[in-house]
Amino acid sequence: ETHERMQMWENIQQALVNEQIDQFRAEFLELHPYDQAKIFEEQEEDIRFLIYTYLSPEEMAEVMEHVDRDLVSEFISEMVPAFAAKIFEEMATDDAVDILNELEKNKVASFLTIMEKEASDEIKQLLHYEEKTAGSIMTTEFVVIHHEMTVKEAMRHLRKAAPDAETIYYIYVVDSYKKLVGVISLRDLIIAEGDWIIYDVMNERVVSVPVGEGQEDIAQMMRDYDFLALPVVDFQDHLLGIITVDDIMDVMEEEASDDYSKLAGISDVERFGDT
Ligand code: ATP
Ligand code: MG
Repeated sequence: ETHERMQMWENIQQALVNEQIDQFRAEFLELHPYDQAKIFEEQEEDIRFLIYTYLSPEEMAEVMEHVDRDLVSEFISEMVPAFAAKIFEEMATDDAVDILNELEKNKVASFLTIMEKEASDEIKQLLHYEEKTAGSIMTTEFVVIHHEMTVKEAMRHLRKAAPDAETIYYIYVVDSYKKLVGVISLRDLIIAEGDWIIYDVMNERVVSVPVGEGQEDIAQMMRDYDFLALPVVDFQDHLLGIITVDDIMDVMEEEASDDYSKLAGISDVERFGDT
């Protein structure tokens, strides 16, 4: 296993050094984006520039989602702006917002102007939410259906929406005012009969998070309820986005390292306070 990995890594490195694009793509794109990101991070500048021409913005977006957040702004800055803007279009909006928040304001503004309108509008909205709140960590790629749809209609919609959704395991249900009125799991949807109406089979007691909720409280809710995702709503219960459990794992890691720094800080004070 590890031998195979090393062999693969070596093949990729060879393909890059020899500028064999087909060879590189064949081996590199086989890997999980996390592994792709770790290989990418190791490269010298000239090889990174090669990779920017070997991969499509869509492929590069997946790599960037997994690159260490402390390194990503440097990489984005060295790219041709139009290429970087395309990467942000292709990325999950929550990751795009997370990365854009690390960049200088004027750079962000220039990316937003060259980006496709639909993508930049969504990103702009998310950039407005305060840091470490539901709004700032949620993503807008979720599956939503109308409560009066039949199960069959819902399945047809799900098939169309699935490729771009962050998760399809929970399908959120709204009424004609776009208010969140229920949720149904994919499991429950596929075992229901095609002519049943969604409001008869959905779960009406849907747990949601207000858009201003702090990320620590959301992490706690996710643990308490054991959901894989939570819907985010405004004060009128309009569905705005979802937070998935992988986002919460990032939050918990962040909180843990914050707590660690605080602890380290306290012991410093004590140590120096004594003398
Ligand atoms: P179960 O645990 O019932 O076997 P499961 O393992 O397939 O179901 P879970 O992820 O455990 O799925 O979700 C359990 C139930 O919670 C599902 O029926 C789903 O519809 C419901 N659910 C999902 N999200 C919410 C939510 N935000 N509020 C209320 N219920 C929800
Ligand atoms: Mg379960």
